[in-house]
Amino acid sequence: MPAPDKVTNITSLQTENRVFKPSKEFSSRAHVKSLAHYRKLYNESIKSPDKFWGKQAREELVWFKPWKKVLQWKAPFAKWFVGGQLNVSYNCLDRHLNTPTANKAALIWEGEPAGAGIPGEERTLTYKQLHHEVCKFANVLKRNGLKKGDRVIIYMPMVPEAAIAMLACTRIGVIHSVVFGGFSAQSVADRIFDCQARLVITTDGGYRRGAVVPLKKNVDEALTIKDAQGNSLTKTIEKVIVHRRANNDVRIEEGRDVWWHREMEQVDANCPAEKMDSEAPLFILYTSGSTGKPKGILHTTGGYLLGAKLTTKYIFDLQETDVYWCTADIGWVTGHSYVVYGPLANGATSFMYEGAPNHPEPDRFWRLIAKYGITVLYTAPTAIRAFMKWGVEWPRKHDLTSLRLLGSVGEPINPEAWIWYHEVVGGKRCPIVDTWWQTETGSIMISPLPGATPTKPGTATLPFFGIVPEIVDDQGKTLPKNSGGKLVIRKPWPSMLRGIWGDMQRYKDTYWSEVPGSYFTGDGCRTDKDGYFWIVGRIDDVLNVAGHRIGTAEVESALVSNQKVAEAAVVGRPDDLKGQALVAFVTVKTGVVADQNLRDELRNHVGKEIGPVAKPDDIRFAEALPKTRSGKIMRRLLKQIASGAEIKGDTTTLEDLTVLTKLGSSEE
Ligand code: ATP
Ligand code: MG
Repeated sequence: MPAPDKVTNITSLQTENRVFKPSKEFSSRAHVKSLAHYRKLYNESIKSPDKFWGKQAREELVWFKPWKKVLQWKAPFAKWFVGGQLNVSYNCLDRHLNTPTANKAALIWEGEPAGAGIPGEERTLTYKQLHHEVCKFANVLKRNGLKKGDRVIIYMPMVPEAAIAMLACTRIGVIHSVVFGGFSAQSVADRIFDCQARLVITTDGGYRRGAVVPLKKNVDEALTIKDAQGNSLTKTIEKVIVHRRANNDVRIEEGRDVWWHREMEQVDANCPAEKMDSEAPLFILYTSGSTGKPKGILHTTGGYLLGAKLTTKYIFDLQETDVYWCTADIGWVTGHSYVVYGPLANGATSFMYEGAPNHPEPDRFWRLIAKYGITVLYTAPTAIRAFMKWGVEWPRKHDLTSLRLLGSVGEPINPEAWIWYHEVVGGKRCPIVDTWWQTETGSIMISPLPGATPTKPGTATLPFFGIVPEIVDDQGKTLPKNSGGKLVIRKPWPSMLRGIWGDMQRYKDTYWSEVPGSYFTGDGCRTDKDGYFWIVGRIDDVLNVAGHRIGTAEVESALVSNQKVAEAAVVGRPDDLKGQALVAFVTVKTGVVADQNLRDELRNHVGKEIGPVAKPDDIRFAEALPKTRSGKIMRRLLKQIASGAEIKGDTTTLEDLTVLTKLGSSEE
């Protein structure tokens, strides 16, 4: 008989014995040099959190007014650094101006168009220059009627102006909501409506794989969209500011639309940073939508900035000379915390690239690394799997020896992909930080510290300072080491979300009612004997096979460890006998024949790797898997396909709708 649908005691099938210790050379220069050193700092942070966070906030941030209380906690509502005042753009820019950092590159940017020996367009902005632009653009926002607390949509490609727009908002206390430039007019309209924005900042167009994405045209369309009752979704919008990037034709509506460059001619660069309360809203960002309708996550000023700054410093072990590249789009939280706010608050050089990794050829990333001497690379498993599929010849063509540290975020990284990243990209010399966190958490929660933590492929290892993750059963009881269940966070932390915009009930229901008093992450996780955390997939996706609870990530990683497989997604389908049957959607590497023989081979391979219970009942070959635009596999849709159901629910964050139709007919 199938066991009742309980998440308790996720069975762990995977064993990973490979351990990678940081080299002596790396450790000796790192901020945290040993596991013992990490544990000492961690224990202090947990024992006296007020003391720990108070000290960090004092040392890391510049405050206009000191706080009265470090934390005021009435679950589930936290206030950090109560009574304190500061400004994010001041902390990212002004504070560096009377130091040697003033003339250091803050942003180095390369545009996408390139090819046939023609290098891409390049720009470098020093801290001084970036400050100048941000002050001016903040004055433009004021000139267009914006004031503290207003909401603004930023719908732009990866150009420096996107970061300038974000920082300008923070300078005057305007709340930004960045919408990924790949989203449709409908997504823009929905988000405008949800946060009642007054203004949109966009560009004429942005480059993606050689084509121009007509962003301004999408905005025009968004501004005409009505709900089912015929009411405009976007009537709160008064102005649209258009930055010229791709020079494509756009319509300028008199009285509503203005050009960025024209506006910049009308203002000076004198714009004092507003004194913002520590708890003043900073931005709203909608989640990726892997599990359903995106949620408008609200972050506030002091706590968020502290989280972003500290994690960037320690987890990427920032050094003065780093050229740091986080490849995330600013439309995702990773782009907020690790392209803009974290690196700039630290006075680091943040590299930004506008386009796709395979334009004009699959070696664009490696070219950029060699050309700019990138030292830290932070990217996603989906990208790493694509690089593996494209082949080692592309990275091998380039000198990647400037790299000293690699990072991963977004999904569990398959151990096979980890090893490839380590060997081919990192030349076996770069530690890998597998960072677990969420839009909601604001900054990284579980990750190795590269000079201190021995890593194992596939685990995000140990919690960051001040973070108390635990694995619990269905009653919310903490499970001991070496067991699996729900991942919760027991204590508040500075960069935690403060709510879902306009829907505090949903905030309570989603995060605080599953395990009362604790933050529920929605992820399934297990710990090993060393207390390392292994994310095994979303808790709702945990498979129940003949009484065994198995995380999706483990079966997927077993499939990916076969040389012929490029990517795999595993979901359950109701089964009378076993409770659930396992359906695997598999894409194969170039040149591999996907046939019945391969099916048998893969079933046996999984049986050998992790045990017969995990052998997929059904393997379906696909050209591609449905993913969110941030590159996460959407198992929710695959589950519906696997059980022959109609596709329901929100698909607006899906990268490519045609993938679904192809999958529907993939059964031979
Ligand atoms: P939604 O909440 O709308 O369904 P989402 O959860 O995909 O979307 P994000 O906040 O972008 O939106 O993603 C956070 C999730 O990504 C985590 O809950 C986890 O499932 C996954 N994740 C992120 N980093 C890692 C990692 N290093 N290892 C394993 N999983 C990760
Ligand atoms: Mg989520």
